[in-house]
Amino acid sequence: MTDFTYPEPKLFIGGVWLEAGSRDTIPVLDPATGAPIARLPVATQADLDAALDAANRSFPAWRAMSAIDRAAILHRAGMLLRERARYIGHVSTSEQGKVLAESSAEAAASADIFDWFAEEARRAYGRIVPSKFPSVRQNVLKEPVGPVAAFTPWNFPTTIPARKLGAALAAGCTVIIKPAEETPGSCLELARALDDAGLPKGVLNVVFGVPAQISEYLIASPVIKKISFTGSTMVGKHLSRLAADGMKKSTMELGGHAPVLVFEDADIDKAAAMMARSKYRNAGQICIAPTRFYLHDSIHDRFVEAFGRIAGGLVIGNGLDPASTMGPLANGRRLEAMGVLIEDAVGKGASLRTGGARMGNAGNFWQPTILTDVPNSAAVMNTEPFGPVAVTQRFTDMDAVIAEANRLPYGLSAYAFTADGARANALADRIEAGMIGINFSVLTGPETPFGGIKESGHGSEGGIEGLDGFLITKYVAQA
Ligand code: NAD
Repeated sequence: MTDFTYPEPKLFIGGVWLEAGSRDTIPVLDPATGAPIARLPVATQADLDAALDAANRSFPAWRAMSAIDRAAILHRAGMLLRERARYIGHVSTSEQGKVLAESSAEAAASADIFDWFAEEARRAYGRIVPSKFPSVRQNVLKEPVGPVAAFTPWNFPTTIPARKLGAALAAGCTVIIKPAEETPGSCLELARALDDAGLPKGVLNVVFGVPAQISEYLIASPVIKKISFTGSTMVGKHLSRLAADGMKKSTMELGGHAPVLVFEDADIDKAAAMMARSKYRNAGQICIAPTRFYLHDSIHDRFVEAFGRIAGGLVIGNGLDPASTMGPLANGRRLEAMGVLIEDAVGKGASLRTGGARMGNAGNFWQPTILTDVPNSAAVMNTEPFGPVAVTQRFTDMDAVIAEANRLPYGLSAYAFTADGARANALADRIEAGMIGINFSVLTGPETPFGGIKESGHGSEGGIEGLDGFLITKYVAQA
């Protein structure tokens, strides 16, 4: 796409696209160069009030529209996302950094998400419960919860908003979404597709600004009935407290620190290839990225070598360059965090097998990194690295390694590799995580539940559970 220019970011309120005008603005930076590519308008309090009013006023008609008609709009928007996937890919790569193939695939995956929820909306069944009273009907009804406030991060700037919007809109909810200020364009493209597909005005509103101020304001509003957040555990706890003040429903998709257990009987080359691809996709900025590698002592070195070959073969560069297989980190904070975590681990006795340093001095490029024999005292064994860093430890005993895997307060994803079926079942039962890949790495799909336990959050996105998060249950006994 030679004639690509990054689109001017706007606010989308009440079905109207609003330019910066006299509003404050925030620069949007290209993580591959550090250069500003646009200025993002910051919503004023009047803008937030207008968004609340729009979400509130449009709710009765949107919930009353048949699920089949809502589905038709979502399907049309999905079709537009597929047609525009390459363009949206350019938008995402320019603001987020990931390679174009990943960005374009993300736009297409968002279309699949819209399609899934469009169909699920038609199956938001209630039920009739047999009654002990003669001629009494006991009906269980499912209804949309009401206007939703959604907050999404910068690592998957298209699919994370798509999951929230697809499910909420399909359920009959209206939405105010605040995507990450660093990556506004991708979510705005979702809004544009929905607008072009005929979404009624006011059903979706997109705002930007100072995250803490916007979330506090929206969550406190009596209009908002549900909060959906993806981001760090620390912010998730804060928003949960705000939601509790109004006894509002919430879904929290928070941080992870995925353990990977590789047993001596596993197909080591296959496991290493699968896990290396997962580790370095999106430069490791994925909440379900494999991170803590617990490798059976007898295969530790063989696994690290196979994994390291793949890490060493990655082509690090601007995501818009088709030759690149890994782009820059999305922002300077991640770059700084990598340096601190790696220096700390090496200082505490870890071996740096590969990588470990920034690349060049423009853009946020960091080498794919492997640290071996990392002690639990190192911060990286406890803090989500959210970058291209894999850490290993050796094990010999299954009970001990399961205890290690479950040691952290996180419980998002986990992976295990073994040829022993009974052991695989035991691992599935005993590992504390919302999602587990056994001899497999892909855990995200529109039709499967996605979510964590423990301090990784609560609620699921995706699957039938994803729709349910935006529905309330009402019981009606009718004589
Ligand atoms: P952060 O915790 O400040 O921000 C994460 C996201 O939450 C951003 O999109 C931000 O805009 C938003 N946010 C922050 N404070 C908010 C508030 N008070 N109200 C509403 N939204 C708010 O940190 P960060 O530097 O962007 O990322 C740091 C860490 O966050 C990462 O290391 C990772 O652990 C976690 N993270 C997780 C995910 C995920 O997919 N679960 C995504 C991005 C970041």
